[in-house]
Amino acid sequence: MSHIIHRSLRQVPPLAAGGEGITLVDTNGKTYIDASSGAAVSSLGHGHPDVIAAMHRQIDRCAYAHTAFFTTDVAEQLAKRLVEGGPQDMGGVYFVSGGSEAMETALKLARQYWVEMGEPQRTRFLARRQSYHGNTLGALGVGGNEWRRRAFAPLLKDALRVSACYEYRGRADGVSVDDYTAGLLDELETTILRAGPENIIAFVAEPVVGATGGAIPPTPGYFQGVREICDRHRILLIADEVMCGMGRTGTMYAIEQDGVAPDIVAVAKGLGAGYQPIGAVLAHKAIVECLRSRSGMFQHGHTYIGHPVAAAAALAVQQVIERDDLLARVRSRGAVLRRMLGDVFGVHEHVGDIRGRGLLLALEFVRDRQTKEPFDPERKLHAAIKAEAMARGLLVYPMGGTIDGQHGDHVLLAPPFIATPADLSEIVSRLSDAVEAALVVG
Ligand code: PMP
Repeated sequence: MSHIIHRSLRQVPPLAAGGEGITLVDTNGKTYIDASSGAAVSSLGHGHPDVIAAMHRQIDRCAYAHTAFFTTDVAEQLAKRLVEGGPQDMGGVYFVSGGSEAMETALKLARQYWVEMGEPQRTRFLARRQSYHGNTLGALGVGGNEWRRRAFAPLLKDALRVSACYEYRGRADGVSVDDYTAGLLDELETTILRAGPENIIAFVAEPVVGATGGAIPPTPGYFQGVREICDRHRILLIADEVMCGMGRTGTMYAIEQDGVAPDIVAVAKGLGAGYQPIGAVLAHKAIVECLRSRSGMFQHGHTYIGHPVAAAAALAVQQVIERDDLLARVRSRGAVLRRMLGDVFGVHEHVGDIRGRGLLLALEFVRDRQTKEPFDPERKLHAAIKAEAMARGLLVYPMGGTIDGQHGDHVLLAPPFIATPADLSEIVSRLSDAVEAALVVG
């Protein structure tokens, strides 16, 4: 019996007792390889001594100081680092405690910008059907994850929507990738024109989709086209890099690889790598300058913004990534893992797609590889794979649910950046066993 309202109210998960490197251990002494870093969080693995030492130092100095009264050197250093290493022309950072808060902040920042610019009629966000931007009401309103929204739909301010960039399911046979991309961009522009560009605050998208569909990268040229359309119609571009940011795809920001800079970018998970809850929103110079020169403030705030211990942890995480050249490692290990997945699952009759970027990779399961017909949702294949994997000491992140009317079963792999090729081989081997067992049981 547990007093916690767990994710499942019927089943209490094992008690985590410790963690070291890429593994976690429960109170029964069972060890698990954390092949998804939780939900793409623990990029340095567990128990990293440098991060822990930095947190200790900060706790000893000052555990907390409210930002109504103070700033701290660790938060200032972290902000400087993020702005200098961020997408082009970022002007400032706002710290929060996680991904949903980061997205709420991004949405409010964009809205306040237009209010201060004298365009208060801009009240609509534009987002993609297949998307997840957080579980708070504002972020849930913008997101398009039907399963997460269903019960709360009457409470949400809905966004305008366009199709996701989801080549595996969206591109019809005989249509080239370029034509598919052009069609998506056309739909985006038509939707903007129909709603009136002067009514739209921002287009919101995950550069590589994480939790709704699994590690879906954009097609070449997609985000360049999006940027051009946003510029043409004076609409802000908000990149939700809560999952795909902070090095997870092999560059600090996933959208860098698309040659585009957003106006606002939200990050979280990998920022503190699980050592502390922390997220951040980076905003373009023009937005920061607008607020500075007009009202002089951002009308927002939370109790734990810029928490010094969280900032110290995140600063240490980012320093380790740079010192140990981990972005290069994400790129090379990502290629290794992808190759291994291809070797084992590439011709599997029930694996329709293997995709992703860097160390954010996913498998999509289908009943029929030819027709891409999904499995019956009642079967909950993704949950069965997670359970079989856990039984084999492997943590992979499962995803199901309906996307644009289609059920999907996916598992996400997002190992810590420190995973070795031998670790990756073990992950793929255990995953293969888990998948076969889940397919038999189902
Ligand atoms: N945006 C994206 C892209 C995410 O993947 C998530 C978390 N899965 C969130 C927002 C919400 O973050 P959090 O769970 O930290 O509130």
